[in-house]
Amino acid sequence: MGIWILNGLTVDANNVQTKKHVLVENDKIAQVLDASNGEVPQTAGHEVIDAAGKLVSPGFIDMHVHLREPGFEHKENIATGTRSAARGGFTTIACMPNTRPVIDTVDTVNYILDKAATEGVVRVIPYGTITKNELGRELTDFAALKEAGVIGYTDDGVGVQSAQMMKDAMALAASLGMPIIAHCEDDTLVVGAPVNEGTFATKHGLKGIPNESEAIHVGRDVLLAEATGVHYHVCHVSTEQSVRLIRHAKQFGIKVTAEVCPHHLLLSEEDIPGMDANWKMNPPLRTPRDVQAVIEGLEDGTIDIIVTDHAPHTEEEKAKGMMLAPFGILGFETAFSLLYTKFVLTGKWTLGFLVDRMTKKPADVFGLPYGTLEVGSVADITIVDLDTTKAVLKEEIVSRSKNTPFIGWELQGWPVVTIASGKIVWS
Ligand SMILES: [Zn+2]
Repeated sequence: MGIWILNGLTVDANNVQTKKHVLVENDKIAQVLDASNGEVPQTAGHEVIDAAGKLVSPGFIDMHVHLREPGFEHKENIATGTRSAARGGFTTIACMPNTRPVIDTVDTVNYILDKAATEGVVRVIPYGTITKNELGRELTDFAALKEAGVIGYTDDGVGVQSAQMMKDAMALAASLGMPIIAHCEDDTLVVGAPVNEGTFATKHGLKGIPNESEAIHVGRDVLLAEATGVHYHVCHVSTEQSVRLIRHAKQFGIKVTAEVCPHHLLLSEEDIPGMDANWKMNPPLRTPRDVQAVIEGLEDGTIDIIVTDHAPHTEEEKAKGMMLAPFGILGFETAFSLLYTKFVLTGKWTLGFLVDRMTKKPADVFGLPYGTLEVGSVADITIVDLDTTKAVLKEEIVSRSKNTPFIGWELQGWPVVTIASGKIVWS
């Protein structure tokens, strides 16, 4: 028995919108029919989902997430994190290795993959670290980690401080045909700062994280990427200077790609209501000028993809306040509706642009066979109700943690059915 999804709206990157019937059989997309002539396929013996008026998208892909397992299961685990992803319409997620232990050995990669297979509901692809324990001192065994199934190497959570270490890492990754994914942050410029260096920090007497702490690494690393020929991917771009450097590097044919998070597209330091740590993340919320720059970077292709940087922390941890609370906010469950409401409904982006940057584009950047509704491909499908307006409610959050600044926001465009590898994992 398969699943017929009838009369849904599909959209491509050029925003060409077509009504289609889609048949899922086993874990594959078995048939796609044009629905514009009003014909209904023979559905006897199949489950039927009426998707009339709804968007039928390839399952969303999130290449930057924190599932917190192993080591921080009080914040999130693979079971809860993948369910939170499914609620947000994500069917493929790439988890960052700053767990405890960090993902720097084949055993830990296997642990993640086994847990994801037995307890997860969507596809989990791990990153391995660049350096052992993310200490920046010694490279991990890139070849063994690749063999075990990592999709790239990153010390996310911290920057690789030594240029020589980064160059060695890039040369090794390039020789294996693998990407380096960089959290860009120069530690010497950010000592003890919880927020952006700007108006909020000044008003509250806090130290600030300057834009250069991010951009200096971007500038350094695009030169190292040029020297080594590696595919270099920049995490969570937040500054005008980083956008400028990436744009410049792309013009010179350097193999650089980049990602941006919904909160950096939507919020600036001027929106932070007070000392509430649900507005604390790394990189921090920057100035309105930076927000405008990352939006333009995404729009002109300098920044390739949208990721959430889903980063759960408990209420107790976040209650420690702006200075002491850990960095990070949730991402999965509000990403699409936030961007649909604030960019598509306002006429700034087409629906096709948004869907492309959350599906096909990330698949292309990382060479994944997902993000498509083509016949024969894996049946990862997200059905989105584009019409209902609903508030973000804390009690509806599926993640084990609740740390988001978007509680109470009235949003439109909610995933209502998520199908991963042919199975309904959220409805
Ligand atoms: Zn990071």
